[in-house]
Amino acid sequence: MSKTDVLIIGGGLIGCATALHLARAGASVRLVEAGDINAGASGQNAGSLHFQMERRFLENGAALADQAARIIALNRLAIDEWRGLEVDLGVDLHVSQKGGLMVAETPEQVALLEAKSRREISGGLATQLLDGDAARALCPALGPDVLAASYLADEGHADPRALTPAFAHAAAEAGAVISTRQHVLSITRRSPGGFDVAAKKGDEMETLQADQIFVAAGAWTPAVCALANLHIPLFPVALLMNATERTGPILPQLIQHVGRRLSMKQAYAGNVIIGGGWPSRLAQRPDGGFDLNARASIIPLSRSGNLRAAIDIVPQIGALNLIRSWTGVTTISADQLPIAGAVSRVPGFYVAAGGSAFTLGPTFARLIARVMGGERVEALDVLSPDRFNHLNSFMG
Ligand SMILES: Cc1cc2nc3c(=O)[nH]c(=O)nc-3n(C[C@H](O)[C@H](O)[C@H](O)COP(=O)(O)OP(=O)(O)OC[C@H]3O[C@@H](n4cnc5c(N)ncnc54)[C@H](O)[C@@H]3O)c2cc1C
Repeated sequence: MSKTDVLIIGGGLIGCATALHLARAGASVRLVEAGDINAGASGQNAGSLHFQMERRFLENGAALADQAARIIALNRLAIDEWRGLEVDLGVDLHVSQKGGLMVAETPEQVALLEAKSRREISGGLATQLLDGDAARALCPALGPDVLAASYLADEGHADPRALTPAFAHAAAEAGAVISTRQHVLSITRRSPGGFDVAAKKGDEMETLQADQIFVAAGAWTPAVCALANLHIPLFPVALLMNATERTGPILPQLIQHVGRRLSMKQAYAGNVIIGGGWPSRLAQRPDGGFDLNARASIIPLSRSGNLRAAIDIVPQIGALNLIRSWTGVTTISADQLPIAGAVSRVPGFYVAAGGSAFTLGPTFARLIARVMGGERVEALDVLSPDRFNHLNSFMG
């Protein structure tokens, strides 16, 4: 039997980074990961640090875009977080913050960029609108079809393979106990407070006792929360990524598109990483649900569409060999915003998942650790799980 102040379920970026902050604050922390550290979305993603409003927030009408704009305050905190991360963790994370260009090819897309930029500027984010030539002056590889771009000097990218292991290592050094290949199977609330959690490693069951639980289980979050009889409305999505062979420096900035699914950056080794939210196909279980433990499969039309968009914006990409395509599974909430904070109907129970949590994960972790330490953190209000409280009215 192990007893700690906090039990964290999930060894992705959010879980490992939160373990570090809690351990540094003096809490006893146990983190349990069903597989290996960084084997989920945190190690499969595109590594974009995008602080401009994402295209997906803009394509479903003004009401949703207005709501999504409330995340800008967190994006501003995340910019500062990323600027200090390599020093804080003492590890080269290949962080590059040389700016980001969100491009437009049509007058309609330029109008979308203008509306987006107005929202961002009123939220305190210094995006600049550039015409096509000014964008090409910053990034000469952009093709002639780029009509305009919005530029944010703080954007960039980092190495998803380095970040989470660095947090896990620092958390262990700060005193957190990290167990891998240990699967949480049940959560029982104790009276008057705290939790008993049953976890299985190989053939061995272990009971873990904790005063607080933090679920950071990515796409598996609804299933883990269901063990505590809670509905958390997150839905799995499978996405496609592509990498070209290495080439000389052609893309200093992060490139995104306001009207097409596209993100591009050149990793430190010279490969161009191409993604932007093209779907892959989730595996299905015989009983009809999605099988999140099986690899999602590549949809050939997604891959050709993704590469077409990349070549239209940076024609030189057409001359490069594609060396790898892969799929990764992440999760989105019912209203697109991440879910992060205390579940107030179950004292001591916290959750964080969803959204672009490579960019925002280190910030969520710092803020959640403060909330778990008893502080009120206004910046997280917009993400509170309690906005979905009505789903749990009948859950007892
Ligand atoms: C292809 C792709 C591209 C992306 N690109 C970007 C990007 O460019 N920028 C950006 O900001 N975001 C991006 N994202 C999103 C980002 O990767 C995720 O938001 C982030 O990594 C989520 O981290 P996490 O810690 O919540 O989850 P994960 O990294 O998925 O970790 C969750 C962990 O919980 C564990 N777990 C589950 N169930 C249990 C259990 N019962 N017991 C114990 N452990 C359990 C899992 O094994 C897993 O390791 C992308 C995602 C994908 C898939």
